[in-house]
Amino acid sequence: MTTPLQDPAPNVALPSGMTVFERGWLSANCVLFADDNGATLIDSGYFAHAEQTLALVRHALERHATARLRRVINTHLHSDHCGGNALLARDLRCEIVIPEGNSYGVRNWDQRFLSFEATGQHCDRFDFTDTVTPGDVLTLGGREWEALAAPGHDVDSVMFHCEDEGILISGDAIWEDGCGAMFPTANPKTLAEDFGAAFETLELVESLDARVIVPGHGRPFTDAEGALDRARSRLRRLSADPSRNGRHVVKVLLKYRLLDDRRMSIDTVHAMFRDVPAIVHANRDIGLPPRVLADRTIDDLVRVGAARREGAWLLDC
Ligand SMILES: [Zn+2]
Repeated sequence: MTTPLQDPAPNVALPSGMTVFERGWLSANCVLFADDNGATLIDSGYFAHAEQTLALVRHALERHATARLRRVINTHLHSDHCGGNALLARDLRCEIVIPEGNSYGVRNWDQRFLSFEATGQHCDRFDFTDTVTPGDVLTLGGREWEALAAPGHDVDSVMFHCEDEGILISGDAIWEDGCGAMFPTANPKTLAEDFGAAFETLELVESLDARVIVPGHGRPFTDAEGALDRARSRLRRLSADPSRNGRHVVKVLLKYRLLDDRRMSIDTVHAMFRDVPAIVHANRDIGLPPRVLADRTIDDLVRVGAARREGAWLLDC
């Protein structure tokens, strides 16, 4: 899917040298900071959009008369946030900076510690040159930004906060209307821990009292209070009922795959529900035969207008 590259929503004032590229759902937003000694990009979009990400970075560097992309820093390593890392590193020779907690998984490209196989999503292999640890202070666009731990949706996630400007780059910890899904893992205990961490991360967000939040998906927004209310009530609903959370997770994963593939045979959907670990783990809390869960999830997406069925095919819409 290609989405138009937009400039920041006009209602949100951002400091000069900071550009938010709002993208669709397949690619997370990218934030570019132009600096005298080279630009920094926060998150690099989905692998299927890597060429588009490269083009937008090149254009932005020209616009800001910035000589080069110095580095990419990832909020977390889901494929919609780091799928452009490999291409950007190769073509622009930039550094790749990842959350410290992901260093073992990336160094060894070990799928037990990376999410790509578990979620059935693809990411080209990349190396990293440095890590970011909560508490680190980075200079971006000539201002100081602190890295903050944001566990929940992803245990190793970081956010970036500029106190002087009152801006938070939140990744998938909070969006204007919700937050990233909580994925059950092979260990049944992690889900409750992740929900607990997500609530704590929202408390941290609240304590920052940010003027602007730049989320991983959707437009930058100013009503942090309203967004916190919506994210908390969603998390409360889902954490109270793991099977509801499971159904939400499988819907998210199927819709994401459909966004990527545009059309899938029903057989492929059935295979996905049998084979993709995150779906298998989510179904532990639902308890349906994979085929039945697949058919119900298809029906759910069709009912809300997120997909269309044509015979043996499921189409994105
Ligand atoms: Zn994510």
